Formats: sequence, structure tokens, C-alpha cells
Amino acid sequence: MTFGNPPAAFTTPIYVTRPNLPPLESYVESLKDIWTSGVLTNGGSMHEALEDQLRIHLNVPHLSLVSSGTTALLLALRALNLTGEVITTPFTFAATINALLWCGLKPVFADIDAETMTLSPTAVERAITPLTTAILGVHVFGISCDVAALQSIAARRGLRVVYDAAHAFETRIGNRSVASFGDASALSFHATKVFHTAEGGAVVTNDPELRNRVVRLRNFGIENDQSVTLPGLNGKMSELHAALGLGTLGLARDRRRKHTRIGTVYRRRLTGLEGVSCVTPQNDDGDTSFFVLRVDPTRAPLTRDELQRGLEGFNVFARSYFRLLCSEYPYVGNLPSGRVDNLAAARKVAAEVVCLPLYEELGEDGADRICDMIHYLAKRRRTQRR
Ligand SMILES: *Cc1c(COP(=O)(O)O)cnc(C)c1O
Repeated sequence: MTFGNPPAAFTTPIYVTRPNLPPLESYVESLKDIWTSGVLTNGGSMHEALEDQLRIHLNVPHLSLVSSGTTALLLALRALNLTGEVITTPFTFAATINALLWCGLKPVFADIDAETMTLSPTAVERAITPLTTAILGVHVFGISCDVAALQSIAARRGLRVVYDAAHAFETRIGNRSVASFGDASALSFHATKVFHTAEGGAVVTNDPELRNRVVRLRNFGIENDQSVTLPGLNGKMSELHAALGLGTLGLARDRRRKHTRIGTVYRRRLTGLEGVSCVTPQNDDGDTSFFVLRVDPTRAPLTRDELQRGLEGFNVFARSYFRLLCSEYPYVGNLPSGRVDNLAAARKVAAEVVCLPLYEELGEDGADRICDMIHYLAKRRRTQRR
């Protein structure tokens, strides 16, 4: 039985993402300015410029830079003075759940929508108890939560809404940045994210009072020389990180165009492969660092894990993000909300998702070659089954 010759493997490993960097010379120029000023952190001119530019780029009223996305979550949760239980998704990165635990809050898991992979509003409503104070949604892979439904639940039941927008830097709903919804949103500017400062993040809010608390909390809770008014931490972004951000922000448009082209190749070549679907973000003007495939094990010629392992044979390291749900972490404990029957959709999604490489230098050729490999693997598996 023949299924053709295998495509040639890549000679160097291909990972899902690669940080984009401004030309080194332009960063060195910024470093010279920093050296001249002697200001390395504590809200220097690079920091102020990046805050301004990001606020304009996203068109949001208040944006406070911090040292990471995790810090952004911690500060948003603390600034809101939350207590008790917070309803959240199990299909997310560890930072979401860890931030709740660090703030002494009890995570209560609600199932996700099997299509959008974000919190199911009906499941959220069912999870509310007298101890619930907030909903923590995640715009996973840049796909926005059902913000209207969550907002209406929150308004009716007197809850706060916080979003982990680490994946959703450029996601919009209509003309509005997704980060402008809810009481506060946390952005991550980690090197693996679509816009980055190597390490960094930001808290976005529409509420000036909340913004002031975040600004105090990121600087030890210091109000002025005379008074320290909140138990803050050191969550500041340095001038070196801010300068890098000013450089990478300028590359946003070009990067988005290249990501779109790569995504178009994947979509064109993989549409029609039985049981395999490309998860399209809800809006076309958004950009994320993810190209998400779902492999339905009941229909596809091969399972997600077989696809992932097969690609490794070609030096392509796709990632099945969140294959381990947060509800399964040992330190989270045996919460009733973490039981498998409560999280059926999340379990299904966690077994189907795989992210393909998506970064500028991969190019359309690279994506085309990866599609050849996927088609080859599918064909080989079909042949073996016969
Ligand atoms: C990356 C990420 C974070 C954490 O951001 P850091 O900047 O790495 O601290 C939080 N939540 C999600 C969903 C993420 O992907």
C-alpha cells in the first residue's frame, strides 16, 4: 500500500511562535537615551510614552503598564477588593488560576462553550453562590468571551467582571478593543505574545478610581512620601522593557499582515480535511499569535495527539495548549466545580485543540510545507487503518 513519499522535514526545529524584534540599531538608540537620562525605572519617559501610545493604539481610557500579565491579573483582582469565590474557566494558562489563589480567592470552575472555547454564560449563572463576587473570563486564543451576556449576568447579580486578555491584544468587538469591556482587563506583553516587551503587561480599565489603585498597588502601595496606603508590590515596568515595547509596537501592522497571509494558507489548504477545522477568530481585524486547529477524534483520520507527534517527526513542534485543564492541577484540590461531569465541553476542547506555528519568518512557504506534512500524515493514517 502506498501513500507517496514523505515531504522533507525542516532542517531546524519550527516552534509555534518566535518573538518579533525591532532592528537592533533602533533599540541601541533608545538605550543611549536611557543612559543619558540615567532613569532606568519608576515611570521614566519611555514608560510614559509607551503607556500613551498603547492607550491610543487600543483606544482605551486608562492603561497602566506593569511587569507581567500575571502581575496585571493580581493587581486588577486586588484593586477591586474581591473576596470569596470567583467564577472562571478551566481552559486557560496557569497564571489565570494562580492569580486567584495568590489573592486568596476561591476559583469556581464553569464550563466553556464547546464552539467558542470561552466561558459559557449559562454555566456561569449556574455556578453563582452567595459567596461569588466576580467572574474572571479569558479571551482564549484571542476569541472574545460573550461579553454582553457576562455583563448582563454581572449587573443582575451584583458581580464584578475581570478579563484575562493576555491572548487578545488586538481583538475588537465592533470598533472597540475587547480590553475595554468589564471592570478591568489584564494584558500580557510576554515575549511569546503578539505584542511584547520581553516581559510586561498592563491593566486596562474605564474607571479612573480603579486605575489609581492599580498605579499605587504596582508601586508598593505608596501614595506619597508621607503615606503608604495599600499593601502593594513591585509590579513596575522598567525603561529597558518600555523601550523595547516602543520598538515592537511600530511593527504591529506589518506583523498582522504577515500573520493573515500565513493563516490564509493554512485555512485554504486544510479546509476540507475531514474532522479538522480551523478555528477562525470572530473578527478579521484582530491578530493573535495562535493558529488554532481542532481535530475531532470521531471524524478525522488521525487524532490530535497523532497529528502532533507526526509533525514532530518533521521537526515541527505544534502545541496543544491547555491539554491539562487548570481544574486538574494538584494544588487546586478536589473542588466540586472541577469534577469532570461539570466540565464536559472543556475536556472535549482540551483533547481537540492544537496550535500550529504562526510567526512572521515562517512565511507562506513554511505554512504550505506544514500543510503538506499534515496531509501526508492523514493519508498515511487512513492507509494504515484500511
Ligand atoms: C501569557 C498568559 C498569562 C501570563 O502572562 P505573563 O506576562 O507571562 O505573566 C496569563 N494568562 C494567559 C491566558 C496567558 O496566555
